[in-house]
Amino acid sequence: MELRVLGCSGGIASGQATTAFLVDKTLLVDAGTGVGNLLPQEMSKIDSILLTHSHLDHISHLPFLLNTLIGTGHPTIQVYALKETLEALQDHIFNNIIWPDFTQLPSIATPSVKLNAIEVGQTISIGDKQVVVLPAFHSVPSVGYWVGNDQAAFAFSGDCSENDVFWETLNNLPPVDMLIVDNQYTDEEKAISALAKHYYPVSLAKDLQKLTYQPPVYISHLPTVNADAVITEIYCDLAPWSPKLLKTGARYQLSAKDNLSDAQMSAES
Ligand SMILES: [Zn+2]
Ligand SMILES: [Zn+2]
Repeated sequence: MELRVLGCSGGIASGQATTAFLVDKTLLVDAGTGVGNLLPQEMSKIDSILLTHSHLDHISHLPFLLNTLIGTGHPTIQVYALKETLEALQDHIFNNIIWPDFTQLPSIATPSVKLNAIEVGQTISIGDKQVVVLPAFHSVPSVGYWVGNDQAAFAFSGDCSENDVFWETLNNLPPVDMLIVDNQYTDEEKAISALAKHYYPVSLAKDLQKLTYQPPVYISHLPTVNADAVITEIYCDLAPWSPKLLKTGARYQLSAKDNLSDAQMSAES
C-alpha cells in the first residue's frame, strides 16, 4: 500500500500544504491544499475521498478538484464523511454561492460528486481496502480512519485531542504499520490547544500509552511558523515511540511484513 503525503501542515507556506493523503493513487484522505500538488492526470485517478471533518484545511481543495475533473467524463467521486460534515459542505460550499452545487452537476443522474454519510464504528469497503471509521475528538464533529488491505494498514487520527475511545478502538483492530497523529501546539500552549481540541506533545504521549502496542508514529499538522519548538518537545515527550515527522511530498510504502523504515520512504522529485 502506498501512502503519498500531498500535504500535512497546520497551515500554508511555500512548500507546505494542509492535510491530504493519496492512498494507492485512487483514495484520497482529506482534501486540503495538498491536493493542489497533483497533476490533472493524477487527479483523474481519484475515485473516493474520506473526509475527517469540515474544517477548511481538510476540505478546501475538494471544490477545485471537482472543477478540474468536470467535463472530462470522470465517474462520480464518492465522498465519505459524517452527516454533519456533509451538511456543512452542502450548506456552506456547494450552495451555488461559494461554489456551484457539484452534487447536481453536470447532471443529477451523473453528478461530479456523491456525498455518502458514514458513522463512527462503521466499516466500509473501498476497492481492495477496508475502512473503519474511528471516533475522534475535535472542536467540530470529527472522525479518524483505520485503512487496511491484505498488505498493510495505517490509521489517521484526523484532528484530535485527549480521549480514550480512539485508542480503545485501535486496540481492537489489526495492528497498524503506520499511525499518523496530529500535533499543532507546544505544551506551553495547552490552553489554546484545549480550546482548539488538538493534541500537544504531553497529551499525545499520555494517549499513546493507551495503545497495547507501539506502531511507527508519524506526526502531522505541525504549525508552519515556529515549528521548531513543537518538534523539540515531540522528540522529548514522545521519545519512547521514536516519532517521525510526516513529510509533504513523501511516499510511504506500507507493508505488514517489514515495518516501515526510512529506506522504504522516497521523497518526491
Ligand atoms: Zn480541524
Ligand atoms: Zn486541521
